[in-house]
Amino acid sequence: MTSYLLKPGELTLKGGNREGFEHVLRRNLKALLGGTGARIEMTKGRFFIRCPEDAETKTEDCLRHLFGIAGWAKVRTCSKTADDIFNLCIEEARYFFNRGLRTFKVNARRTDKSFPLNSAGICGNAGEVILAALPGIRVDVHKPELVITVEIREKAYVYGNGEKGLRGLPVGTAGKGLCLLSGGIDSPAALYMMCSRGMHLEAAYFHAWPYTSNEARQKAVRLAEITGSYGMGVRLHIIPVTKIQMHIKERAPAEWTTVLLRMAMMEAAENIAFMRRAKCLITGESLSQVASQTIENITCTQSRIKLPVLRPLIGMDKEEIIRLAKKIGTYETSILPYQDCCALFSPAHPVLRGDPREARRLYEELELKPLLEEALKEMAVEKCAFPPGVCKD
Ligand code: ATP
Ligand code: MG
Repeated sequence: MTSYLLKPGELTLKGGNREGFEHVLRRNLKALLGGTGARIEMTKGRFFIRCPEDAETKTEDCLRHLFGIAGWAKVRTCSKTADDIFNLCIEEARYFFNRGLRTFKVNARRTDKSFPLNSAGICGNAGEVILAALPGIRVDVHKPELVITVEIREKAYVYGNGEKGLRGLPVGTAGKGLCLLSGGIDSPAALYMMCSRGMHLEAAYFHAWPYTSNEARQKAVRLAEITGSYGMGVRLHIIPVTKIQMHIKERAPAEWTTVLLRMAMMEAAENIAFMRRAKCLITGESLSQVASQTIENITCTQSRIKLPVLRPLIGMDKEEIIRLAKKIGTYETSILPYQDCCALFSPAHPVLRGDPREARRLYEELELKPLLEEALKEMAVEKCAFPPGVCKD
């Protein structure tokens, strides 16, 4: 069996809510590791995972996609006898020494005060045995490449350098939101940001077949799968938007078409959000990035919507967003060259500072209700990256 020690992140700050957060973190871990034989244990604010060796890769992959932990490390355990503990320290140091690390220090924490050595004693003794066992290794207390930690609790735990977690809050602690997910770079990053705050996300993709290809649809599915791997799965709603788009193009002034289409998308998304009990809409908008994202046009776009529209990227520039998209693994999919439905119909000279009253007047003249209802009836659903065995409604 392999053991991992998890350090909860912001959870420690949440006072009375803490138990609830820990409960959700545990539930998420259980769902993600279902079927691997892994067991999850919790003692005094620390999570331990014990899994069979052949489930290590899966467990580590899951920990790299888990919101709510500050860090984790593979940990060795033994009884609370000095010899056993120092032998584990040598083993642990040797593991990292063999991977090229040459300087170290030892940290010790003793919760069980009946253990005969105090923290300083543990550090001193462990340091000596490691130095004796591994010629070429040195102590550096200021900037060590390797930190060996010894914790004396109900058992003894020894671990070396761990990995940083994603931090944030466990998905499922902040209600549900619906993200308007295009095939672009921004909206998957926005979806990820909201997951990081503990929100469980569903997504809506507006598909303009045959103007946008099935590859474009597949791209949206793939993006929902990648972001869903951080978000305990994403339910993706695929809404045909071609008729609505044609209707707008035929009846509305050319310069308004993009803003009006966005308004229609918002209205459809709000309806889905009501059906799915999502409490807000999320978009990948960033202020003034394109004509439809000036503050005036953003005001037009949301002017008929009652739910709050959250825009986690609003103050980020494109380079920052690209960096985030690369980090989370959506970038390579997002830049695949399949046209977005809005790009195909965008006018040469779009309104830059639309007046919301004018926008609403034009929108209402379009009488889109029947077409919106039809589109929602024809909507398809894909369940992307739900943990196996878990089918959240
Ligand atoms: P993205 O990279 O997310 O596509 P973008 O910079 O291309 O963003 P726009 O095309 O103006 O920006 O879209 C703004 C936002 O509107 C998107 O971030 C997304 O939330 C939503 N959106 C645009 N097109 C679609 C679509 N076809 N389906 C669902 N949502 C969409
Ligand atoms: Mg786009």
